[in-house]
Amino acid sequence: MNDTMRVAVLYDVDDIRIEQRPIPELADGEVLVRTMASGICSGDVMSWYIRRKAPLVLGHEPAGVVTKTRGATKFSVGDRVFVHHHAPCLACRACERGEHVQCKTWRATKIDPGGISEYFRVAKTNLSDTLALPENVEFSDASLVEPLACVVKSLRRSGVRAGDRLYVIGLGVMGLLHVLAAGALGAEVFGADFLPERRDAAERNGANVFHPDDVRRALPDGADVVICGPGTPEAMRAAVEAAAPAGTVVMFTPFPPEVPVTIDSQRLYFGDLRIVASYSCGPDDTRAALRLIADGTVTARKVGADLIALDDVPRAYRDFAKARMIKPIVTFA
Ligand SMILES: [Zn+2]
Ligand SMILES: [Zn+2]
Repeated sequence: MNDTMRVAVLYDVDDIRIEQRPIPELADGEVLVRTMASGICSGDVMSWYIRRKAPLVLGHEPAGVVTKTRGATKFSVGDRVFVHHHAPCLACRACERGEHVQCKTWRATKIDPGGISEYFRVAKTNLSDTLALPENVEFSDASLVEPLACVVKSLRRSGVRAGDRLYVIGLGVMGLLHVLAAGALGAEVFGADFLPERRDAAERNGANVFHPDDVRRALPDGADVVICGPGTPEAMRAAVEAAAPAGTVVMFTPFPPEVPVTIDSQRLYFGDLRIVASYSCGPDDTRAALRLIADGTVTARKVGADLIALDDVPRAYRDFAKARMIKPIVTFA
């Protein structure tokens, strides 16, 4: 192992470069992971969101192999792992209430320097949400743990039950993950997208699909749960309109800053609607996500992910941002 590695750095949404960086040094109790697969996230192509973090090493969905440890850790060289870039303290009030994403430590933690990097350092705190991979789980599938965990949390917060009608607006990768995970819970799943190839993908994965304009015909009585994928006021309006009486709408993606959510108060109040947000995921969600991957409910193949090389990241980023690619996952030799 020499002491430099290659990483994908985002300077701006149209300026991504592959650069050399030093391999991180470990402090006591930390581990170094050699990345095997790491996805580009839908959030990475949300320009207002990612620009305020730039420049940054892209990627926070890595799976790989422990190549070095320092001091005492529960992991050993050779262990196959998924690493969550955020991990909670497990001691504060938010953690006691199970709201790990609202823990200050969770917010402050990260992997060094990022997931789309040949190696990364895992700080001690992050080891509490570092999961050993079952033997049958491939790295490309394991790289879906983080995005799928966000979906697990979204479905948990939606309160969806078997037999409910669940309507997913937006059938990109996060929409498809909702389709697969909600189907496994026994929901009757509906989905809409403007792009026919995305509707086809959702249909192959068990959803009843239609063009967004046909929602009234497809769901005349509304949906018990509506997952609003796109982070736009229009999508949110459509989500509220599609909710059945006493239904729940999940805001899965934020709007740009300062853009308000406006809801017809009569419909909200007399319809007994619940509107819930769902941001990211915690350690319970990553474990549930890994179970769904290990049992084959969710795979990179089912969502139509594209496995790409590190050098392809700038091009794949552009294609993904333009909805020409469903989910790029960088794999490392
Ligand atoms: Zn992600
Ligand atoms: Zn905490």
